Amino acid sequence: MIEKKDILADLHIHTIGSEHAYSTLYECIRCAADAGLKYIAITDHYYNDGTKLHKINEINRFIYLEKEAARAQNKVHVLGGAEFNIGQNIESWEKLKELSWKMIGVHGMLLNVKEFSYDDIYRFYEQRADDMDCFSHIERNVGKIGGYNETELTDDIRNYLCSLVTLAKEKNVVLEVNESTLFADEPGDFERMNYWLNYAKSNGNLISLGSDSHYCETIGRFEKALDLLNAIDFPKDRIVNCNPDLLKQFSDL
Ligand SMILES: [Zn+2]
Ligand SMILES: [Zn+2]
Repeated sequence: MIEKKDILADLHIHTIGSEHAYSTLYECIRCAADAGLKYIAITDHYYNDGTKLHKINEINRFIYLEKEAARAQNKVHVLGGAEFNIGQNIESWEKLKELSWKMIGVHGMLLNVKEFSYDDIYRFYEQRADDMDCFSHIERNVGKIGGYNETELTDDIRNYLCSLVTLAKEKNVVLEVNESTLFADEPGDFERMNYWLNYAKSNGNLISLGSDSHYCETIGRFEKALDLLNAIDFPKDRIVNCNPDLLKQFSDL
């Protein structure tokens, strides 16, 4: 049984740096402390509009975040991170490697999944897997891949999700259980998450919990994720957020 008090971290948080989120780093740290968390990962979206100034600012902002937060000596330790998008051209990758918590996922606003097949999207993940710590919300937008509007768990969708779970295990990439997916409850998402999570349980994968908060007061809230994890009896020792040794490892302490 996993309880709220077992969760030491929220590993998916957006600040105003994401340009469509609403809280500052300060507000996020305060809310995380109020929620009793010891660690948060700030995972603002990585954008690249191609201008030199934007590139320099973007990379430095990601890298300095963890150092600046550490200087303030809050009780909440901040992992500097970023959320990348599948198919995205990542500039200056060598520099971005310094980030503690690198996630990648499919975002409908940054990639038109209708133009790609399941194999195409899988290959995007495969290309980036060595550079990533986490695959975020792998169940999202899946029904729209290839131009469908599929809410059922078809064989194609099962195969696609299983191949991502297998890839994550092979490459030591953590899979995310995303509270915001469960809260939004788009048709088919729960069934897809339930499916891949059961497979990840038997396959020995590590998972992480992310609120995907775009506003600070939802940081650390995992009611729906906990219901699902407890319903399938997912082992607590394979949840990064509940495991101080794994959290220390990712935060380079
Ligand atoms: Zn966002
Ligand atoms: Zn996100």
